[in-house]
Amino acid sequence: MHKVAVLGATGSIGGSTLDVIARHPQHFRATVLTAHRQVEALVALCVKHRPELAVIADPALEAELARRLAAAGVHCEVASGHDALTAAVSSELCDTVVAAIVGAAGLESTLAAARTGKRLLLANKESIVMAGSLLLEALAASGGVLIPVDSEHNAIFQCLPGGRPDLGKHGVRRIILTASGGPFRGRGRAELAEITPEQACKHPNWVMGRKISVDSATLMNKGLEVIEAHHLFAAPADVIDVVVHPQSLIHSMVEYVDGSVLAQLGNPDMRTAIAHALAWPERVESGVASLDLASCAPLQFEQPDLVTFRCLALAFQALRAGGDAPAVLNAANEVAVEAFLAGALPFLAIADVVESVLAELPAQAVVDVGTLCERDAMARAAARRVLRNAC
Ligand code: NAD
Ligand code: MG
Repeated sequence: MHKVAVLGATGSIGGSTLDVIARHPQHFRATVLTAHRQVEALVALCVKHRPELAVIADPALEAELARRLAAAGVHCEVASGHDALTAAVSSELCDTVVAAIVGAAGLESTLAAARTGKRLLLANKESIVMAGSLLLEALAASGGVLIPVDSEHNAIFQCLPGGRPDLGKHGVRRIILTASGGPFRGRGRAELAEITPEQACKHPNWVMGRKISVDSATLMNKGLEVIEAHHLFAAPADVIDVVVHPQSLIHSMVEYVDGSVLAQLGNPDMRTAIAHALAWPERVESGVASLDLASCAPLQFEQPDLVTFRCLALAFQALRAGGDAPAVLNAANEVAVEAFLAGALPFLAIADVVESVLAELPAQAVVDVGTLCERDAMARAAARRVLRNAC
């Protein structure tokens, strides 16, 4: 029986994770559930899943959470704040942590899971983009295991022997990340000037949180995933290719030196990757329908348009610059996406903000989490300055 902490339980990945867990009460139990500010949604999940502990990140809402849980007849422990999140992850309450908080806000708890040697099921790609080397060092020191939940990385994990091998030794020639192309695939810059948050969040194949939906529309999501793949699979930038595959049925591929290309396919439903990661190295049923190849649309592939979707090129640039450039890229992107979602920044200007901040803060070596967080704050401040000057 695995005791699972679901960080970001009220989100899209959190919901899919709890759906899979609920299908296998003999194998998994959701012992810790957390949310940022959604008290009502968290209470509803606690009523259904009966965790031992519920954590609300915003301390101002702890009393309300406790009151509502008591009123609903749920007698679990209640805590609040980011320290409570890291304490929960490090405690005996869980042996498995599903890191599904969105953004840099997930870094501390992801690192805490890695340091305590828990099975770390990583959806929070921003934390590995920011602090890949520190995260991997922490895992190596604790003997913890990381199983990727991001569908592309989960696919690559499944196509590689042993998940994270020495690529050279195993004859890997290329890692091929597939990208859906997002809702604006095929459009040129002129057609994207007036894009609204609602249009950007309407992904053709996946239902996701708003931040990752915007990242998918700009292709920054693929850029973050290139950096994520670099860390997870010790792959240099030159070994990672991106191909647009609008049907999102092939979740990614690995090419070997003999010309073999292994792919992982499935319907676009995150429960497959989540179930794989929860049960690994076993397999459990996920609730996802069988892939019906005879009746699905023909599979298409095309090159990404790096002129229109500059964020992908900027992510490769940050990866090649090394050091903390990916953390700077991520911070600037988070600020820009927030501004876009608030109606305060045009869609195409997201890339402009990221580019300016990368130029203003040249890469520095990653020393420790403290300095990384300082650089994250500097990049956010720089991005806000760019935003103010643009308005
Ligand atoms: P979401 O917006 O639907 O949910 C985010 C969750 O994080 C919520 O439970 C929210 O309460 C919590 N949260 C937000 N800010 C927080 C903060 N400051 N402190 C503590 N908790 C906070 O997002 P999502 O789509 O589920 O994505 C979660 C992560 O998984 C992201 O990093 C995303 O890139 C990654 N991911 C998502 C998908 C997907 O299909 N949704 C696929 C691959 C990877
Ligand atoms: Mg993905």
